[in-house]
Amino acid sequence: GRKLLMIPGPIEFEPEVLQALGMSTTSHVAPDFIEVFGNSLELMRKVWKSPKGQAFIVSGTGTLAMDMAAANLIEQGDRVLVISTGYFGKRFKDILDRYGANTTILEAPLGEVVPLEAIEKELKTGSFKALTITHVDTSTGILVDPKPIAKLAQKYNTLSILDGVCSVAGEEINQDEWGLDVVLTGSQKAIGVPPGLALLMASEKAMEVWKKRKTPVCNYYADWNNWLPIMTAYEERRPSYFGTPAVNLIVALETSLKIICKEGMDKRVKRHQLLAKAFRAGITALDLEILPKTKQIAANTLTAVYYPKGIDGAALLSKIASSDVIVAGGLLSEIKTSYFRIGHMGSVSSNDLLAVLGAIERALLELGQNIVSGNSLQAFQNELLRSN
Ligand code: PMP
Repeated sequence: GRKLLMIPGPIEFEPEVLQALGMSTTSHVAPDFIEVFGNSLELMRKVWKSPKGQAFIVSGTGTLAMDMAAANLIEQGDRVLVISTGYFGKRFKDILDRYGANTTILEAPLGEVVPLEAIEKELKTGSFKALTITHVDTSTGILVDPKPIAKLAQKYNTLSILDGVCSVAGEEINQDEWGLDVVLTGSQKAIGVPPGLALLMASEKAMEVWKKRKTPVCNYYADWNNWLPIMTAYEERRPSYFGTPAVNLIVALETSLKIICKEGMDKRVKRHQLLAKAFRAGITALDLEILPKTKQIAANTLTAVYYPKGIDGAALLSKIASSDVIVAGGLLSEIKTSYFRIGHMGSVSSNDLLAVLGAIERALLELGQNIVSGNSLQAFQNELLRSN
């Protein structure tokens, strides 16, 4: 049957986006495509809420966007503070280390966030060039509030870099107002475009810091010296070339950004919050426990759920899959086989989540769990009714 893809990226894409992807490929310097690229850069600023930001669209994945931030902003020996709430925090440290950064990692205990006091205590030791935040760590489903951290970064004259791969276009982000210097993502999550684009927005301050580098960027492909003239050219609707852009993906990106802006970011964030809250109510009604210790730090783009005691995780996932609902296993190595993850971002609707809860509930009942059929659907519905 037709499968419902409910992993934390790639997600279910809007039909218009997939249609755009299937259009005849044009030249990357065709006037129509130049307009599409330029417009995409402009629409990104609306989604990021960064009217002053420098937008980059480059072929690659979210990891390339992280690599690009590190390669361009960090020089050998620079101190960087990594605030980690899971697997992707550690990845940022690995990337930064590769460019010779002197990294300090603050790791939150499992299911928690790093307290602001601990961050300030580190920043006080002085001279951090940058700090990184994972907005939503997809391995744990933990949501970090970037606003007070960005404020601290400004206080200590440190650049703030937000890994927004699992948050941009799903969670609240106000880049300029919050003073975030870099906010980056990949196309396949809440932005709603098949995998293959690295998207990044840099503040004026980040671009100044980059311009003042003393050493060359140690990565040819990621070097903004190569990409900035291209972004400027597209924005000024002029042809240019460095590396051939992913023409079809960018046509799809413009389509998706238009859909996002038509809904409006504020409404879109509220939809994610409402559906996530109702979904957590459904999960709780199945006597399942979520990974984040409190609801305040539970992501609105995905939910990480522990398997119930005595249930074989692989068996549960395969039963869920037999209902044509695809969810994801664990990612964090320490607990990989004890939890699973459900993505609910982008085009997600209450219909999708009713199907997911139904599939999970049926799978648990088939595996002999002592739960009441219909409870999760009722809890989900009640939460939606309460909020409307
Ligand atoms: N950061 C976060 C928070 C992510 O969720 C992901 C992807 N799951 C990445 C970075 C890496 O993105 P990609 O897989 O597109 O390289």
